[in-house]
This record gives sequence, structure tokens and C-alpha cells, in this order.
Amino acid sequence: MQKLTEFISPGNVIKLKGLDSESVIRELAGTFNSLNKDVIVERTLRRESMVSTAIVPGIAFPHARLESQKRLAIAVGKSRKGIEFNSFDKNPVNLIFLVVWQPSTPGLFTQLFSSLIKSLRKHSFRDKLLLAKTKSEMLDLLSTIKVRVVEEANSSVVCAASVLRKLQERERKRVGLKRKSPKLEKEISTLQYYMNSDYLSRFNRLMGRYGTAIVDVEAGVCQGCFMTLSTGLRNQIKYENHVYVCENCGRFIALKEKK
Ligand SMILES: [Zn+2]
Repeated sequence: MQKLTEFISPGNVIKLKGLDSESVIRELAGTFNSLNKDVIVERTLRRESMVSTAIVPGIAFPHARLESQKRLAIAVGKSRKGIEFNSFDKNPVNLIFLVVWQPSTPGLFTQLFSSLIKSLRKHSFRDKLLLAKTKSEMLDLLSTIKVRVVEEANSSVVCAASVLRKLQERERKRVGLKRKSPKLEKEISTLQYYMNSDYLSRFNRLMGRYGTAIVDVEAGVCQGCFMTLSTGLRNQIKYENHVYVCENCGRFIALKEKK
């Protein structure tokens, strides 16, 4: 586990002046030492238009994928007045984490956000962040958040299984519909957003060929083609939510989800 502050420089922590989501995203993007500020803003807003990232009370996590981004980088802004962010609870947000990441890093989004959200769901911790008066107080608090981020691409781990499963479920639902559902289309494009384009095209090929792209592995057997996997591959499949590829049928495979 790493400290969240490994990805936040003191210069990335600011008091927000803007009063709407676009201007505060621009302020936060301005703290990155990047030539691509406009691209960051544009992509973040496009992502935000799919579905709001204000998913924890008072907090939003706008983010953008940036091919030229070497390392994950985070900027944190605080707004005393609160910013309208189309949040799930309709309330304005006071804390905004802008995240810029390299899209080839597999599962980064899921890894980072699951650990980040876990800490920030705690009411008492959120209050402390909101009450922090100085930048160093803020950084001290943020340094207590531990995140699990694997930045090195691992060949066997291609994507978070949960994202693929959700996408598959929605793609199937789409096939059964007589008329396009705007809500479903939006969900599908949001999920596709988090996938590396290589995996997305593989996913689409598999859906076209088999009608399933990801299946469970049970007792070392692929539940798509019902062939037993090689010992080498079976030994690799240890982590829930990691995705592998069946050597026989080429489908994505993952350990069965624990309910
Ligand atoms: Zn198979």
C-alpha cells in the first residue's frame, strides 16, 4: 500500500476560487506541470457528462486519461462555498480530487478509487479534511489514506473483472431491447471509458463470436469452453477481480465473484 500523498505535490493542493465545476476543474488542472491542461479539462468534462463523479457526500473525483501521463497525479481543491457537481445526493461538493492517469495501466481506476472511497466514506475523516486550515494540515490528513496502486503493467492482468462483467451484463441487456435505452447506452459508454482500447476491441470480438466475453473459472475449468486450464495458468489465477485469458477459447476468465 502507498500513501495517497505520493501522488500529490504540495503545489497540487489549493483553495478553489471558481464557482462552477468547469472553472474549478480548470484551476486544478492548472496545478499540474503538464502541457496538456486543456486536454485534461476537456476530457474530464466529457467524462463528467456521462455520469457525475460526485459519489461520496461532499466530494467529487473528476478524472481524465492522458496517454502522455507517466505517473498517476492527483490535485486536491477545497471550496468553502461548495460547487454544483450533479452529485448523487443533489448537494454541492466541497472537496474535489482531480486525477490524471495513464490509460494503459490496467485496473488503476478501480484500485485507486476503491481505496480512496473507503477512507473518504468516513464521516469524521471528511469533516477533518473540510476543517483543515493549512495546506500542511491537509497533506498530513491525506497522507493517512493508503491506496493500492500497481503502476507496472502485468501481462496477465488485463483489466478489472468487475468492469468487464458489468459491461457484459449491459451488452446482453441491450440485445434484448426493442428500443435503445439512453440510460443503458450511457452506462455502457461509461464502462467502456475505463477500458484500455486493446481490451475493449478484444471484448467486442468475443461478444460477437460467443455472446460472452468473460466467464468464471471454477475448479480450474473455464466455464466458457469447459476445458481444464494448464497448471501454469491455474497457478496464476489467484486474485479476485483480475482478468486472464483462456488458452483454449480466448475468452476473458476470472475467479468466480464471492457474493
Ligand atoms: Zn475457455
